[in-house]
Amino acid sequence: MTDFLQQLEEIVGKGGLLGSEQVSIRNKSYWDASPMKARALVRPKTTEQVCAVLKLCHQHKINVVTHGGLTGTVQGTLSGKADLVLSMERLNAIEEIDPQGRTATVQAGVVLQTLQENVKQHDLMFPLDLGARGSCTIGGNIATNAGGVNVIRYGMMRELVLGLEVVLADGTLISSMNRMLKNNAGYDLKQLFVGTEGTLGIVTRAIVKLKELPLSANSALVAVNEFSQVVDLLKFVDKSLGGQLTSYELMWRNYYQAVTEAGWHESPLPRNYPYYVVLEAQGADPQADKEHFQLMMEAAMEKGLIEDAVLPKSEAERDKVWAIREDFEALLSLRPQFIYDVSLPIKDMDHYIQTLEQRLSERWSQCPFYALGHIGDGNLHFFVSPQNDDSADLHHQVNQIIYEPLEQCGGSVSAEHGIGLEKKAYLSLSRNAEEIALMKSVKNLFDPFNLLNPGKIF
Ligand SMILES: Cc1cc2nc3c(=O)[nH]c(=O)nc-3n(C[C@H](O)[C@H](O)[C@H](O)COP(=O)(O)OP(=O)(O)OC[C@H]3O[C@@H](n4cnc5c(N)ncnc54)[C@H](O)[C@@H]3O)c2cc1C
Repeated sequence: MTDFLQQLEEIVGKGGLLGSEQVSIRNKSYWDASPMKARALVRPKTTEQVCAVLKLCHQHKINVVTHGGLTGTVQGTLSGKADLVLSMERLNAIEEIDPQGRTATVQAGVVLQTLQENVKQHDLMFPLDLGARGSCTIGGNIATNAGGVNVIRYGMMRELVLGLEVVLADGTLISSMNRMLKNNAGYDLKQLFVGTEGTLGIVTRAIVKLKELPLSANSALVAVNEFSQVVDLLKFVDKSLGGQLTSYELMWRNYYQAVTEAGWHESPLPRNYPYYVVLEAQGADPQADKEHFQLMMEAAMEKGLIEDAVLPKSEAERDKVWAIREDFEALLSLRPQFIYDVSLPIKDMDHYIQTLEQRLSERWSQCPFYALGHIGDGNLHFFVSPQNDDSADLHHQVNQIIYEPLEQCGGSVSAEHGIGLEKKAYLSLSRNAEEIALMKSVKNLFDPFNLLNPGKIF
């Protein structure tokens, strides 16, 4: 064992350090089952240990790649064989739930679903929610500024973080564990670490906002014939529900059909409509909210905004509807598998999708293309899989087709997943030269030796 590894082991104890061989039996990520590579993987149990590890890496000029739940989609956690992986898996305690102040103090490795379930016992809710809830961590959610299915009502992770504790590249601890909703005392430094993908500092603890647990949830799966109805229906339900609309998720027919193929999810509606929306409202009065929701749906039907709909009558039926939207296992065997996460104004979406379909089918005779999205947030996801083409630059060719039209409408190559390694060649399509130069100056100020998640974003 080298001096460096011995010193690491002294910091974190025997069980806290895995050597390169032990690391290689772990998968790279949720999306990539090939073996992880690293000089070693360290699993600190306390913030003090994280500080000591980073101080040591700073002395030895060792690169550090932080791992949360490994569900990120942009290769933000990819490590090389000389890198040290810093896993947050043992820094996973919920330290405090404050029902009066409506905050939770958590360590960065707490799994999102664990936090959701714990605060529920106090009649509270942590509103961030996404399909990876069972694996992704609060630290990873902060580092990626995660979005998910409730953004339309509660905002992205950035809006839910009150305080942060962060360790800088040289081991300095920045404790900014604010719990106030309002605090304009100087710069709001914590925001620098939200969405910066572990390149400026390691998040070790956070104080997050909680909300009162809703007492009612009413949802619907709706089928629609025209994209203009999707947009009009969103405006109509949002207005009619007076702030209760929590989710408005769109699936194009090809996605809906693929995930409701035999053996996957049951389809409660005929499978040949062009668009399907899952929408949900949460409120405080079960009886009145249910009646109001049903009346709203009837009115939308009368206005011609909906072609067909089902309203789940139980929690189990609701889960089945949501599984159609969230469980895309049916698509995970696609090879190649290129996944996208773009944002653009809702008025441009229909034309954008038609353009992509046309360009992809002109370029490849067989190119499965599945689209869905957090449409209320202007955020679309695609799975694209061009067949029978083993060109070395295949991914780049698809990227060009997907990203090129975004520039004109002011869209973004990353709505909620970040840049990581995968999108760094395309950052300049969404950020201008001056913005990128300032980002690089900030990186240089925080991490002059480029040790934290090097090569990611830029
Ligand atoms: C089924 C599925 C559904 C998804 N749905 C959504 C969705 O709706 N919305 C959405 O936004 N994302 C979604 N994602 C993507 C992913 O879940 C999020 O990006 C999530 O926030 C990543 O959390 P993680 O703990 O897995 O982070 P990881 O994947 O482990 O890491 C992501 C990035 O954060 C850095 N990082 C992790 N922890 C820390 C830390 N403590 N300090 C500093 N840096 C850190 C890593 O270095 C890496 O750059 C989905 C993924 C899957 C698999």
